[in-house]
Formats: sequence, structure tokens, C-alpha cells
Amino acid sequence: MNEWIPVSRPAFLGNEERYVRECMESTWISSIGEFIVRFEKLFAETWGVEEAISCCNGTVALHLALLGLGLKPGDEVLVPSLTYVASANAITYVGATPVFVDSDRDTWNLSVEDLRRKITARAKAIMVVHLYGRPAPIEEICALAKEHGLWVIEDVAEAPGAKVNGRMLGTFGDVAAFSFFGNKILTCGEGGMVLAANPERARAIRQLKGQGQDFDRRYWFPVIGYNYRMTNIQAAIGLAQLERFEEHLARRAEIEGWYRDSLVGSADIILAERHSEERSVCWLFSLVLGGLDEGRRDKVISTLAAGGVDSRPFFYPCHSLPPFAGDLGAADQCATATWLAARGVSLPTWIGLRQEQVARVVGSLQAAIADAG
Ligand SMILES: *Cc1c(COP(=O)(O)O)cnc(C)c1O
Repeated sequence: MNEWIPVSRPAFLGNEERYVRECMESTWISSIGEFIVRFEKLFAETWGVEEAISCCNGTVALHLALLGLGLKPGDEVLVPSLTYVASANAITYVGATPVFVDSDRDTWNLSVEDLRRKITARAKAIMVVHLYGRPAPIEEICALAKEHGLWVIEDVAEAPGAKVNGRMLGTFGDVAAFSFFGNKILTCGEGGMVLAANPERARAIRQLKGQGQDFDRRYWFPVIGYNYRMTNIQAAIGLAQLERFEEHLARRAEIEGWYRDSLVGSADIILAERHSEERSVCWLFSLVLGGLDEGRRDKVISTLAAGGVDSRPFFYPCHSLPPFAGDLGAADQCATATWLAARGVSLPTWIGLRQEQVARVVGSLQAAIADAG
């Protein structure tokens, strides 16, 4: 039996264990402690911003970001249909309505053309998702948002460290959310971070994540808040990860290079278009099997698994999921997102993966495609 190659695995390259031990020895294991302060500070420095606000996962980071903008029932938030469900769910937490935007066939990120078409008088914000580590056309979207008086929320869960024209994703929008789930580029098990360009908004978000407590008056709660705090143990792991951030990105880029080199010229395998002004990061090495339908794509995934290679299909487009289906007219069915979602596959991408394992994945993939076609 072939050795099992998982799709993802965390990598601890530095001080993770030492910092967690320090939490235990100091007894500071809850949501107050030096690692929370240090993680937020290093995150803010790395992104070149004043302040970063830690929280317990990426989904609540999105919720806090939306609360910070004061979105409310009746407001519409434009969001790509092809994203992880958390992006759309968070919009419903504030009572707003997600309006699903189709994808661009070449970049897989949201289509600006469809976005433009779907802006109504009720639209209040655009949630931009940088999918699978690649920047969405954020400059163009910010210009469009400005033109229509809309907020911009960046969901950077899958693309920390990616840049456009040298500027970090997460610093373009009014607010941004990051995730440190176990399969993400930086992980602390579960965790999240929020950035807000406006310092007053950042302060309001920080208050909301701590039950809404007044900063100067203990047990005084002027607003209804949440317990969305990160623990010192999570922050200890997150800080250690962030200290080695460039190494994480470089080693993932090397793996991406191995995949790209061994896939050149493969018929039927489509990779996302890359633009020169962008630095993308490799969250999951993803491709689209242009010549297959969904059933055959699923067969490729099960053949890979039978040979010991883990993989993932793309997300189902959110507009097709039961809580959201039915909200769209026939003309708004996000045909490209549906097409991509049915044909997309993500391959094993984690630090520690060896070049010969990548070769095995690619060989198994090509055999599975031939078999399914
Ligand atoms: C992972 C992810 C999230 C949610 O993060 P959690 O930390 O798992 O809550 C949100 N949006 C996108 C695009 C993601 O990939």
C-alpha cells in the first residue's frame, strides 16, 4: 500500500512548542497574556498597519468586520459565489443579504463585470475573497466601490502574504479578516485576525469581541458584544508561525513550482491566470480539469484516494447551497462559478512534502484523468 499523502498538514518551524510551554508554566492559558499582545503587534507590523485585532477564528473575524461597518437587515453585500461558506454565512449573521457574484473564468476570482451588474440601491458593501491564495482585482473593485459608495471587506483567509503592486492584501479594504484554521498558511489550530483602516472602527471591533465591555470601566457594557477572544495558547502558536512567515511562503512557493514544472503541457489541466503586478501565495495548489464533467472529476478524486493521494474538490458555489438557493433568478445562476466548481481539484500542499511525493501525486493525477476521461 502506498504511503498516504494528506491534502494539508500544519508545519511547526520555530518556537511553537516553546511558547506553548511558556503559557503552561506561567498559567496564562486564557484570553489575557503576553502572546496575544505580541502576536497582534507582529501581525500589525508585518501588514504595515497600526493595529491588528485577534479573535477566535476566521468566521468570527468576518462577523466582527461586518459589525464594525454597522451593516444591518435589508443591506446587500456582494460576495463571490465560489468561496468557502463562512464568507456568506457571516453576512447573514448581521441580518444582511448576500448577493452572489459569478467568477472570472481565467482567474477564478470574482468577476468585476458581474459585480458591476449586480449592484442595486440596497447594496452597502462588497466582500472580496482572495481565493486559493491569489489576489482578486482589488484595486479595480475598490475604485468601483468608491464610485458607488460601498464598503469593501477583504476575506484574506486563503491569501495571507499575497500582494498587489507591492501592497499586502488586507490593507486595501475598509476591513479585512484572516483565518488561522489548521489547514491555512499560518495556523494556530483555530484563530482569526481583523484589520480595520479606521482607528475608531478598530476600537469598536475590539470592544465587540470582548463582550462589549467599556475599556475604562470593568463590568460596564455600553453595547451588546460577543466573546470572540483568542487564547494566549492560540496566540503563542500564531506568533511562532508568523515569526517564520517568509519561510512558510517560500517553501510553499517551492512546492507550487514543482507542481507547475511537472504539469506543463498537460492537456485538460487548467491553472489560474497570473498577473505580473501580483504576488500570489500557495495555499492549496489548485487546478481545473477542463475536459471533464463533475461526475468524472469526482471519479478522479476517488481514484487518487484509492492510490493514497488525498485531494479536495472546489467548494460548491454558495448560491447552490440549501440556505441560499432560491434567492437568485435564473439569469443570476453564476454559470462560471458553477462550471469551475464542478471541475476544480486541490492537491496536497504542505511544508514537508517532498519533490518525489509531488511527482507521485502528478503521476497518479494523470493516470486518474486518463482513466476517467
Ligand atoms: C477558512 C476560511 C474562512 C473561515 O475561517 P475559519 O477560521 O475556519 O472560521 C473564511 N473564508 C474563507 C475564504 C476561508 O477559506
